[in-house]
Amino acid sequence: MMVWKKVEAGTLPTEAPVKLWAGNGRGEPCTACEQPILKSQAEYEPQYDGRAPIRLHVGCHGLWEAERRRRGYLPDD
Ligand SMILES: [Zn+2]
Repeated sequence: MMVWKKVEAGTLPTEAPVKLWAGNGRGEPCTACEQPILKSQAEYEPQYDGRAPIRLHVGCHGLWEAERRRRGYLPDD
């Protein structure tokens, strides 16, 4: 799982999303780990203007947030 590399490459943004949508997976690949998000799993979809759709497993979303926090884009709380 190389979330930080995706952030480094710009595939995953560091900015906060406009909106965070959550629902059930639809078998589409996760933007972070590239494994499908199964219908039995929860899927997070951070929404951005003018950016390709991002889909994340709950665990991958947590790793992405940790990476953003490490880079100072998320406040420690
Ligand atoms: Zn994933």
